[in-house]
Amino acid sequence: MATRKTGSDVDFDAIGIGAGFAGLALIHYLRQEGLSVRILDRAKDIGGTWNWNCYPGAATDSESYYYCLTFSKDLLQKWSWTKRYPGWEETQAYLKFVADECDMWPHIQFDTEVVEAEYLADRGCWRVTTDDGETLTCKYLVSAMGMISEPMIPKIKGIERFEGPIFHSSRWPRDLDYAGKKVAVIGAGSTTVQMVPVLAETAASVTVFQRTPNYILPAMQRPMTSEWEKEIKENYDAIVQKCRSHSFGMAFDSPTGRTVADTAPDEVQRVFEENWTGSFRWVFETFDDLLTNPEANRLASEFITRKMKEQVDDPETADLVAPDLDEYPLFAKRPPLDQGYLKSLNRDNVTLVDIKDKEPLVEITEAGLRTTRKDHEFDIIVLATGFKAYTGALEAFPIRGSEGETLNEKWRKSSDSIMGTCVAGFPNLFIITGPQAPFANLPTSIEQNVIWIARCVQKMEREGYDVFEPRIAAEREWTKHTADIHNQTLMARGDEVNSWMMGANRDDKAPRVLIYFGGANAYYDRLDQSADAGFPELEFVKFGC
Ligand code: NAP
Repeated sequence: MATRKTGSDVDFDAIGIGAGFAGLALIHYLRQEGLSVRILDRAKDIGGTWNWNCYPGAATDSESYYYCLTFSKDLLQKWSWTKRYPGWEETQAYLKFVADECDMWPHIQFDTEVVEAEYLADRGCWRVTTDDGETLTCKYLVSAMGMISEPMIPKIKGIERFEGPIFHSSRWPRDLDYAGKKVAVIGAGSTTVQMVPVLAETAASVTVFQRTPNYILPAMQRPMTSEWEKEIKENYDAIVQKCRSHSFGMAFDSPTGRTVADTAPDEVQRVFEENWTGSFRWVFETFDDLLTNPEANRLASEFITRKMKEQVDDPETADLVAPDLDEYPLFAKRPPLDQGYLKSLNRDNVTLVDIKDKEPLVEITEAGLRTTRKDHEFDIIVLATGFKAYTGALEAFPIRGSEGETLNEKWRKSSDSIMGTCVAGFPNLFIITGPQAPFANLPTSIEQNVIWIARCVQKMEREGYDVFEPRIAAEREWTKHTADIHNQTLMARGDEVNSWMMGANRDDKAPRVLIYFGGANAYYDRLDQSADAGFPELEFVKFGC
């Protein structure tokens, strides 16, 4: 393990919170700079999202071969994926492989929850307090806690009364035996869409309580063949570059240079049909105006809902599961990818209940759920109710900046940041994929963020700086720029339908701009420009000067 470099009186040069993709990337890039790095994680194992989200059916929605870290060509060649979308076990195994190969384990301290972090202005360092009362100091504090990690537990009357297991989807009990049990799932987002077809195979019944329907795209899972793997491994440099150059960090062939606005109606349908081959590719490899032009978006939404309904036998259920086109546009909510959900609705043991119009939820009882129509009895209730995205993990415990204000307090009305990586008033704090960063293929964004962080740290250490202070003017500029772009997209209608992409699913904070939609590639360029220009967004300070 690298020895401490900063020379100041701290326990570690850098402490990162979270041992998922971001934590591992952090170890790699900061260790390269010769820093001592400690990663703290409350979990008992590596994986972050892929440790916590171990519900049946949990899988990536990005295709495996670009849902990985790219800092080592050797590792990219060594690891073999088994399928197009790996399940949580396989992704966790991949992260363990990275940790093994790169000797990362000694940097990680499990079973350690951070309960408070405070910036000590007189020393230019952070003091981190853990759940067992230990305090650790570091020059740089880095959030690697993930942008979709803090559960959103709804305030449903009687939630504490249920006598069987009731838990959030991301806290699935590993030893839970649901075979032959009656399972309720509250929520109808990506998690539910992944979970239900697997649960339905052995549960006595699965009942989904749906408020807002989603535009559901097909995943079209398939095994990784040796020919496909060979092709990928021969082209990894180009694949990595493709992700870096793509507006959502994915290895997609877009922009296409085609718009719906400039294409004849028959040809639009032909292109839609031809590209119906699974993944989010369909949104990006058909036409370039689906997320900005309302008419184009409506045609896409119409196509999707037709495809959805074709798979559901019962017309009433088909109407219920597909959104009404007038309600909201495609991508105002993040669309789930389907590996069998729509077809599972044809099973006798799966029921979709409309809790928006037909039978709203009234309360949870000792034996199940009461709606306005009847009492439903269950053995298990799953709260697949989503997350406090982007900021939730950073607001869950006090992180106090130079004026004593916490991030939670600072972000009461608006979650401002500089490029999602740092926040005015919080010196020497880095965030990996924080608010106002893009929503993109996460390993790509994580790595680009960590490279920027490592370059900043390199400047600090080489030039002998003690502190960086994020400039408030830079934060205002980025916040305005992010909002201006956001308001030009159809995603800005997310607040009408509780979209987590605007924090509109939360009951403790008002909706806001949370995502930079100017293109992940443009954002990555901006990070590089910032580093090349010596980080003009930050003020660098030497003590005693
Ligand atoms: P979500 O998309 O936010 O869905 C939450 C669901 O819970 C919604 O249907 C919501 O209804 C419902 N809900 C929330 N509060 C409720 C209440 N009080 N009463 C009734 N229903 C309530 O959450 P998610 O499915 O966990 O997915 C979140 C995000 O995580 C995804 O969009 C995705 O980005 C990520 N994710 C990724 C993967 C992957 O890539 N493999 C897998 C799963 C999740 P309303 O819509 O009406 O609010």
